[in-house]
Amino acid sequence: EIETAIKVVVVGNGAVGKSSMIQRYCKGIFTKDYKKTIGVDFLERQIEINCEDVRLMLWDTAGQEEFDAITKAYYRGAQACVLAFSSTDRDSFDAIQSWKKKVEDEVGELAMVLVQNKIDLEDEAVVQQEEGEELAKQLKLRFYRTSVKDNVNVDEVFKYLAEKYLQE
Ligand code: GDP
Ligand code: MG
Repeated sequence: EIETAIKVVVVGNGAVGKSSMIQRYCKGIFTKDYKKTIGVDFLERQIEINCEDVRLMLWDTAGQEEFDAITKAYYRGAQACVLAFSSTDRDSFDAIQSWKKKVEDEVGELAMVLVQNKIDLEDEAVVQQEEGEELAKQLKLRFYRTSVKDNVNVDEVFKYLAEKYLQE
């Protein structure tokens, strides 16, 4: 039996919670210390979709989101993508379309999802839910609101991507 393996890239501005999301999903942990990821690496988790084993390989960036040369190698061969922004960071929301373009310029069409993270930080929110919904509609993407800290909707994001990939 041949197992399906999916390379998933998680992109977005620095500090939106990409590394935390990958750790949460693959290791079940959340740490508050903001440690910049060193080197390009991935974590994996196996799930079952329609009685089929699917291995998700979640690639993290080097914490050097601004350097094109590094990220191009990182995107190569990706089959699914999380576009992430933070509720507490307006710039990260404004940057979503450019992240989408960067990934698509490198790998073409792939399964994508839009994610608003840090929804637990209600008092500090500068991007409203409706704005996220509107952008998702415009980009024709499914929209999830997550708290990696409180473990809200993280599993759902990756399950959706795996299902979407298998449909295509
Ligand atoms: P990255 O640069 O996108 O990889 O972001 P990190 O994963 O390093 O996270 C940046 C900071 O945001 C860290 O201090 C995390 O602990 C914190 N963080 C990540 N997700 C959440 C969340 O859902 N809620 C809150 N309150 N903090 C978060
Ligand atoms: Mg990181």
